[in-house]
Amino acid sequence: MRRSSSSNGLTRRDLLGLAGMTVTAAGLTCIGGIVGYFLVDELGQRSRSTASDPTPPPARSAWTKQIERPTIITRAEWSAREPNHAAENESGFYTLDNPEGWRDYEGDLRAIYRTVVVHHSVIYKTDDPTTMQEIQTEHLDLRKWADVGYHFGVGVSGQVFEGRSLGARGTHVEQFNSGSVGVVFFGNFEIQAPTQPQIDQGRRLIDWLALRLELTHLAGHGEFNDFTDCPGDNMLPYLDLFAISAGLVRGTGGYQPSPEQLITPTPEE
Ligand SMILES: [Zn+2]
Repeated sequence: MRRSSSSNGLTRRDLLGLAGMTVTAAGLTCIGGIVGYFLVDELGQRSRSTASDPTPPPARSAWTKQIERPTIITRAEWSAREPNHAAENESGFYTLDNPEGWRDYEGDLRAIYRTVVVHHSVIYKTDDPTTMQEIQTEHLDLRKWADVGYHFGVGVSGQVFEGRSLGARGTHVEQFNSGSVGVVFFGNFEIQAPTQPQIDQGRRLIDWLALRLELTHLAGHGEFNDFTDCPGDNMLPYLDLFAISAGLVRGTGGYQPSPEQLITPTPEE
């Protein structure tokens, strides 16, 4: 499995250690504090230079190219509202008895995240920052969640926005939120197509997330929840592009249930 070993039998965490890099959960919760944690060239060089496993995993393009952290507009920069932990539908904090509460992940995020889930916003307002604000407003005030449900937004102009803290579980893919990074592209891709800047920056974001979180899979929202057409037919061809670019497997196979689901299995959709 690519997740557990590289071509030389070392996990990417081992390689990070070899490269003298450590990533703390605290650091990963802060978008502004993660610049420079991933020195991809050095990481890739090490993986290539010591390859000896006779059965290497599928080629991961992300390992052999430069991946720079995309410019991410922080919550403060787009004037995000603070999370509301009294929210009706995401109230309090996660426990096995309150599985729908706000869940701050504990430990290394690379051991938690597996799948990046792509969405479309349907709504688009006057510009990208306004759209990001509108999405948060809808999630807070209409859906009664504690915060914007997605971890990142990708605007029509290619601007990338910080959404919910990456250190917290998102609210974007029913029954499958734990361990799933939510990326929303602004627009309604049932009736329009994503823009080229949006595809370029979205791909760059997903490449970067896949590497730094050791993701294994990429899925469209509707692959998990068949009651939705999200992220729209016009986005579907790009899901393959994103997956290939980031070296991810398409589909839902990477999902692992969260603890309370193992105790009380939830019915299939
Ligand atoms: Zn969606």
